[in-house]
Amino acid sequence: MFDIGSDAGSPGYDPSALTDVIHQFSLVRSDLICHGALSDVDDNQLCELALNIESLRRGLDSLSITVLAELDARGTTDTVHGMRTGSWLANNALLPGGGSRSRVKVADRVRRHFPEIASSLESGAIGFDHAKVLVDAANPRIIDEFKPFVTRLIDLVPLMTFERWKKEVEGVAALLDQDGGHNPGDDITDNTLTLSPGMSGTLGIKGQLCGDNAIIVFDAISERADQIFHRMKNDAKLAGGVKGDLKIPPRRTLLALALSELVREALGKPASAASAPTVAPRTDVSLVINAANPDLVTDSNGTPIGDTSKFTLLCDPTFRPVVMNTEGMVIDLGRDQRLVNDALRRALFHRDGGCVWPGCENPATWCDAHHVQHWINNGRTDLANTGLLCRYHHGVTHRKGWSMHATDDQWFWWESPSGKSFWSQRHGKQRTGCPPPPPSQSPNAPPSNAPPRPSQC
Ligand SMILES: [Zn+2]
Ligand SMILES: [Zn+2]
Repeated sequence: MFDIGSDAGSPGYDPSALTDVIHQFSLVRSDLICHGALSDVDDNQLCELALNIESLRRGLDSLSITVLAELDARGTTDTVHGMRTGSWLANNALLPGGGSRSRVKVADRVRRHFPEIASSLESGAIGFDHAKVLVDAANPRIIDEFKPFVTRLIDLVPLMTFERWKKEVEGVAALLDQDGGHNPGDDITDNTLTLSPGMSGTLGIKGQLCGDNAIIVFDAISERADQIFHRMKNDAKLAGGVKGDLKIPPRRTLLALALSELVREALGKPASAASAPTVAPRTDVSLVINAANPDLVTDSNGTPIGDTSKFTLLCDPTFRPVVMNTEGMVIDLGRDQRLVNDALRRALFHRDGGCVWPGCENPATWCDAHHVQHWINNGRTDLANTGLLCRYHHGVTHRKGWSMHATDDQWFWWESPSGKSFWSQRHGKQRTGCPPPPPSQSPNAPPSNAPPRPSQC
């Protein structure tokens, strides 16, 4: 059998060494499975073969844990692919997300706290399942007291069944933990969240979730961050690649955007799928516009709102614009002239079928109705002047230097700050057949305010 254990080799990494092992392994496998050699193996050899395969699996587990821990410590998948190590592994090796994340967690904790577990994995004395039991038992409250027992517990592995051994480990952990087994989900007050509004409309978030709450929130935010990453990757390609106008932010930003997107969806979702399309129940948040200086938009506390957010929010019926004169009197609630009514929303659902940004898979129920020519500049709230955009692509469309245009036959096209242009999609299919109109002479014109151009098709 193959030796990929502790005495495998020299300090330098030779990429061909592992390739040779994989090649040698595939030859043996091919002989046994494809060329019928298995039928010549007698019963004793078959038993020995099964155990050798398990021994090989332990060697691979040890190597996998060491490599994953190194990958996680370097933060490589975050920097290069915008994903945490476990999610990246699940995505690329097509594994269940929970299993991959658990594998990386064990790898990380073995590397940081348990050299004895690492060396026992390396020698083949224990496998991944043993390492996971030990790591899970050593909860943060008892980790230091638990460490001296690790070697003794590993020595017990060959003396009993796995299940019996697992009970021994859990028994030691329970004895060390004065409060009994560590189960943070038992105390609801272990769930905490502090929100700290800062200057300039920022919000600091700090807290801890336990048990089911932790799992649901972690999985939902991680999964949405992965979706945003893929969406941004597609957008970056559309806007000209690595040197284009749309860059992919780091993972921590993707996670923050994912949290915000999930909250917006929860607030804007129709009561039931069957009720769509309808105007969704939404929160009603006021934005204050001063009639004498319409460029200055603030929240109800007077905090100014940045340009991109301002245009996106004003376009969205979730937010109620309140126009005030210099004496502080409300002169316009601005609702009637911009709200997309049920009939129009239904028509938009039917025409666009979801976000009209090419390649975006966000469904119509998650989308805002964006005014191509802004309502504040007398843009009409009708089918010809509105298109469905998910919150993220709505934000991109309102960024400085970007402009979205409509054609006479109600397709849309964008111009990026560097002059790239591309067509919209309907029901997930991008317009084909002829290119979007050429870039305008003034690519930095204010977003969404350019007059609709006639189609060139
Ligand atoms: Zn808009
Ligand atoms: Zn979109």
